[in-house]
Amino acid sequence: MSLWKLLRICGSSRSNALSVASLGKAKYDYDLVVLGGGSAGLACGKEAVDSGARVLCFDYVKSTPAGTKWGLGGTCVNVGCIPKKLMHQASLLGEAVHEAVAYGWNVNDQNIKPDWKKLVNSVQSHIKSVNWVTRVDLRDKKVEYVNSMGAFVDPHTIEYSVKGGPKQRVSSEYVVVAVGGRPRYPPILGATEFGITSDDIFSYDKEPGRTLVVGAGYVGLESACFLKGLGYDTTVMVRSIVLRGFDRQMSELLEAMMSERGVKFLHTTIPSLVERQGDGRLLVKYRNTTTKKEDSDTFDTVLWAIGRKGLIEDLNLPAAGVQTKNDKIVVDATEATNVPHIFAVGDIIYGRPELSPVAILSGRLLARRLFAGSKQLMDYADVATTVFTPLEYSCVGMSEEMAIQTHGQDNIEVFHGYYKPTEFFIPQKSVRHCYLKAVAEITGDQKILGLHYIGPVAGEVIQGFAAALKSGLTVKTLLNTVGIHPTTAEEFTRLSITKRSGRDPKPSSCCS
Ligand code: FAD
Ligand code: NDP
Repeated sequence: MSLWKLLRICGSSRSNALSVASLGKAKYDYDLVVLGGGSAGLACGKEAVDSGARVLCFDYVKSTPAGTKWGLGGTCVNVGCIPKKLMHQASLLGEAVHEAVAYGWNVNDQNIKPDWKKLVNSVQSHIKSVNWVTRVDLRDKKVEYVNSMGAFVDPHTIEYSVKGGPKQRVSSEYVVVAVGGRPRYPPILGATEFGITSDDIFSYDKEPGRTLVVGAGYVGLESACFLKGLGYDTTVMVRSIVLRGFDRQMSELLEAMMSERGVKFLHTTIPSLVERQGDGRLLVKYRNTTTKKEDSDTFDTVLWAIGRKGLIEDLNLPAAGVQTKNDKIVVDATEATNVPHIFAVGDIIYGRPELSPVAILSGRLLARRLFAGSKQLMDYADVATTVFTPLEYSCVGMSEEMAIQTHGQDNIEVFHGYYKPTEFFIPQKSVRHCYLKAVAEITGDQKILGLHYIGPVAGEVIQGFAAALKSGLTVKTLLNTVGIHPTTAEEFTRLSITKRSGRDPKPSSCCS
């Protein structure tokens, strides 16, 4: 029996955890080795140290085909949520400057243009400061950190080498695999040579110019929107439908909102070739899978946003006997792999949401179960999420389709409405796509199954409702909640029209 298990059976405390940690030293070099210093690995490692465990964390970033590299902290900090949110904000500010004129601001230069290089520098400076704070935090918390790839030699031993130096080995009682993923490239000529991905765009040293974004998931739509918002002609190539897996009505509204802002779409289309022309621009050949028509166009930048693959290939998982599926690791409800002392958290897990807060909470809860006697499992249900487009789309719980599939069309009620944000009136911003809906059970107090919102600051709006939904929110409670006026979030407390009624969901006035 492991020392930590013994400790848990004895009803451990933090102070005796430390003494058992030192006893554990006899058998293994560490209590926990974490492979990957991103959202999941860092959260897990830091929490484990708080419970007295001796923790070593490996993190290493291989450069992209275009040569981009970054520091400690993983995808979210370096090439994901954080730089994306900053570029999203830069793009929103472009809209806001024009609105400011309508509000009476004297903005002298009407030909306002963003400075891409300055934006990239600002974004990268912020990231570097986060990398530094992350390192200091690890040092303060006494999580040992090695900037190297780690790979299994056997189920308890990890091999690594620092900066091309000799191979070294460490052993650990537990191993947590938190290696995340990286963007995929399509298997076509010129893809890696001439295309870039989200790993490159946030530090791209030249202006993107006319851009083709291939893929219509989160990364594709968000990137297309911030690029268009920054003034670049942008086309999204869609293989099947936009935001597959999301509520269809909301996804289609989002696409219409993007089209209204000038983002172009190539539907049911896949690329077949990218080649550099004499003038340095990129010729992309593509095929419409519905009409079978071949076509081509020229772009300055091609951005692949076709999903991500799990980074299992450098782990030598066969040496540890860990089971995988596609390029992900299969775990049970405790995040344990088929090898009981080896766990996986974050994006590398098969079949779980690839979101930073999911990675963080699951990593933290795992550490508490391993080292602090906790029994709490990660609840992957009803995770709220936001697509950061100019009008953002945020949702929690079931899509309308999922609710129909699960409960049956006759057993659900959909409350919906368009609304007009007060601040949109003066600059005469389009309110055509400001829409929200609540999908609920039809009987009793009408338990809410899903909430969907397109509009300003959607993530901020849905976060609180996500807690309410997790606590069993009903339509009755929602409609008995007093709104905060004038906000857009209050629209959820005014949802009185059901789809079934056939009544017009367009608002008549702002305050009735
Ligand atoms: P990662 O953060 O990827 O960390 C894994 C680390 O392990 C990496 O540093 C990797 O280089 C390293 N590594 C790999 N193999 C090894 C090895 N063998 N040894 C040592 N180290 C190794 N999520 C949100 O919630 N909100 C958002 O707005 C959002 N925006 C995003 C935008 C983009 C463009 C992208 C790409 C993702 C976005 N995400 C967002 C998703 C979020 O970034 C991920 O879910 C999250 O970073 C996953 O964390 P992780 O710890 O599992 O993996
Ligand atoms: P997604 O899996 O969400 O989307 C991939 C897109 O690429 C789909 O539209 C897919 O089409 C298309 N595609 C796949 N393969 C090909 C191909 N060979 N040729 C053409 N098109 C193709 O991946 P993303 O990269 O957008 O995002 C990865 C994950 O990162 C997300 O699942 C999300 O969890 C996370 N993320 C979260 C964000 C947030 O929280 N705001 C932001 C960004 C990322 P099809 O539907 O036909 O398969």
